[in-house]
Amino acid sequence: MTTLREFFAALLARRGALIEQSGGLVETVVPRDVAGPLGLGEHEVLSFDSDERAARRVTLDGELFGRCAGLLAGAGAFATVTASVQTPRIEKLDPGASGALALRNAAARSDRRETRALSHLLSCARYTATSNERHEGMIHVLVNEFTLSTRRLADPSVAIPGSAADGTLDAVERRGAADVGKAVAAAQAVAVRENLSGFVSSQERKLHRDLARVDDYFGMLHDEALRISERRGAAGDADRTAAKITAIDAERARKTHDIIASYRMRVSIEPVVFVRIETFAPVFWVEIRRRKGVRNVPLAYNPLVKALDPPACEGCLAPGGPFWVCDDRLHLVCNGCFAACPACGREYCAACHPGGCPACRRNAARATSSPAA
Ligand SMILES: [Zn+2]
Ligand SMILES: [Zn+2]
Ligand SMILES: [Zn+2]
Repeated sequence: MTTLREFFAALLARRGALIEQSGGLVETVVPRDVAGPLGLGEHEVLSFDSDERAARRVTLDGELFGRCAGLLAGAGAFATVTASVQTPRIEKLDPGASGALALRNAAARSDRRETRALSHLLSCARYTATSNERHEGMIHVLVNEFTLSTRRLADPSVAIPGSAADGTLDAVERRGAADVGKAVAAAQAVAVRENLSGFVSSQERKLHRDLARVDDYFGMLHDEALRISERRGAAGDADRTAAKITAIDAERARKTHDIIASYRMRVSIEPVVFVRIETFAPVFWVEIRRRKGVRNVPLAYNPLVKALDPPACEGCLAPGGPFWVCDDRLHLVCNGCFAACPACGREYCAACHPGGCPACRRNAARATSSPAA
C-alpha cells in the first residue's frame, strides 16, 4: 500500500519538485506554480511520521492534503497498465469455443488457437437520472478492444491486475477508438437501463398516483358544477355552467400536462476514469460457414476475469447470442439486428445496413429524385 508520504513525494516529484526523503521527513523544493495552490513555501520540510518540530506536519485530514485535489484534477482519467497475469496454457484450455458461439443459421467449428497481446478497456462512469426525483450511481464496463466484446462488472477492481508488468507489450492489436467507444456506450446503456428499472417503475407508480389525484379532484369540481346547475333547473344560467365546466376541464388538462412534464426523465452518463489493461490472452478462431461464404471470427479468453469474453452482436454490440449469420458478409447479429423492416417486411442485417432498411431507403431515394409528375 502507498503511504501518505510516498503519495505526496510522488505527486510533488511529478509536478517538478525536488524531493529528498529521510526517515518520516520529506524535504522539497517546489516550483512556484505548484507551491502557490498548495499554500507552501518554495522550500519546505514536510513531516509525515516524525516528531521533528521544525517541519510542517501533513495528515490525511489536514488542510494541505485537501489542497492536493486541485493538483490531481484531470490526472488519472486515462491510464494504461500492462498486466502480468497468469495466462492458462492455451492447449489446456477447452472453452468449447464453437459452443460458446451459438449460431442460428450457420455451422461453426473451432479452427485454430493462438496467444496474442491484446487490451481490455475498463470504463467507470457515473450516471444520473433526473425526473421528479434524482437517482445516481456508477457503471463499470470492461471491453475487449480486439473483439469488442463487453461485460459489466459489479466490482471494477477485479479487472485491475494485482501486479503490473514492467514496460509495455509490443504489437497490441485493437480496434479503433470510435468502435471501442460505441461498444462502451452500448454496454453502458444496457447497464444503466437495468439499474434504473426499479427507479423507473417507482416514478411511474407516483406519476399514476398524482394523475389519479388530479382526476379525482377536477372530476369532483366538474360533478359539483353540474349538480348546482341541475338544482337551479330552468332558472339557472346554462351558459355560465357550460363556461365553468369548460374552465374546470381546461385546468385539469393543464395540470395533467404539468405533472407528466415534471416526471419526464433525463439520463446522463459521464465518464470518470478509463484504464487500459494490456495482457497476453488466448484467442480462439472460429470458422463460420454460411452458404458459400466462410469467415473466421475471434473469441478471446479474458485472463482478468478468467472467462471467455462473450461474443458481441456486430449490429448493436450487445453481448450474448445466439446469433444470426447474414448472407452477404457473414456478420453475427442478434434477433433485433436481423429483424424484418416494420415498413416493408424485408429482413436485413443491421451491421451491413446501419442506416436502416436498404429497400425503404432505395424507395425513398427514388421518390425524392424522380421529378414531380
Ligand atoms: Zn444486435
Ligand atoms: Zn423496409
Ligand atoms: Zn451483415
